[in-house]
Amino acid sequence: MRLILLGPPGAGKGTQAQRLVQRHGIVQLSTGDMLRAAVAAQTPTGLIAKDIMANGGLVPDEVVVNIIADRIEQDDAKNGFILDGFPRTVPQAEALDVLLKKKKLKLDAVVELRVNESALLARVEKRVAEMLERGESVRADDTPEVLSKRLANYREQTEPLVHHYSDKRKLITIDGMMPIEEVTAEIERVLAAVTKADETAQAAKRKVASKRAAKPARAARPAKAAKKAKAAKKAKSKASAKAKRTVKKAAKKTIRKAAKKVSRGAKKAPKASAKARQGTRKTGAKAARNRTGRAVKAAAGRGGKATKKVAKRPSKAAKRLTKRR
Ligand code: ADP
Repeated sequence: MRLILLGPPGAGKGTQAQRLVQRHGIVQLSTGDMLRAAVAAQTPTGLIAKDIMANGGLVPDEVVVNIIADRIEQDDAKNGFILDGFPRTVPQAEALDVLLKKKKLKLDAVVELRVNESALLARVEKRVAEMLERGESVRADDTPEVLSKRLANYREQTEPLVHHYSDKRKLITIDGMMPIEEVTAEIERVLAAVTKADETAQAAKRKVASKRAAKPARAARPAKAAKKAKAAKKAKSKASAKAKRTVKKAAKKTIRKAAKKVSRGAKKAPKASAKARQGTRKTGAKAARNRTGRAVKAAAGRGGKATKKVAKRPSKAAKRLTKRR
């Protein structure tokens, strides 16, 4: 299991980290402890960190990132770890993301201990008193003035990590104002739920993978055939589009040619129209003749009876003959 504990100074991270170590057999990696050890050993890192820490400031990102990168490589961290006090800034969180990705390590959860700021000073004062009682040396930064600076740093630089990890759906927020035992129980309850959800997701993934593995050949072939068919269809539609374009082009060309001819014809218009007029006249005469013919025939039809009447009447020559007789 790989966890991050997030919370302001005095939130109880150290206390809860120790309980998680015992329960899950993982190591606690506290950058504060590591830096204090470096200061005590007067290593180059310790020399950089000493005054910054005493004043409640933050040690440069690259210093702590390098410490953590080395530490999670060690054998005792292979089983899992709890990061306590790291990351403390967004760049540190981003560096950790890269580091874990490179090492193919998954972060299980980020546990945020949320506490009332006004309660923090009282807690730290109590811690100092207890340490003095046990005869332990008190941290240089556990004074009310430095504590308020550490708190301001937390609000400005570390609290944005709440969004960073909630965006990644890793954040678990626990009410750190409850008694220590209850906080522990709540962390365990939520972690159990996270583990269970993770196992279910893993099982579903495995199921999908094994189903795929069961029928690889059959699945592969139809996919290939479908691809081929798709390509053929595409080629066909491309070809028909090209053909349509060609036909359109040819049609346009023909129209253009015809239009040219017409306009050429229009230039010779006077002669042509004279001929045309003649033709019209001829046609007119013919039509007139036709009309006359039709009228004659009609008249003939009508005139059938009239002719008979006329035939009954004696002609002028017949009248003259009758007179002479
Ligand atoms: P706290 O009780 O305030 O959480 P820690 O014991 O975690 O304190 O750290 C003590 C001091 O060590 C910090 O105030 C800071 O100066 C330095 N330190 C620890 N962790 C980091 C970090 N990740 N980045 C920068 N500085 C750190």
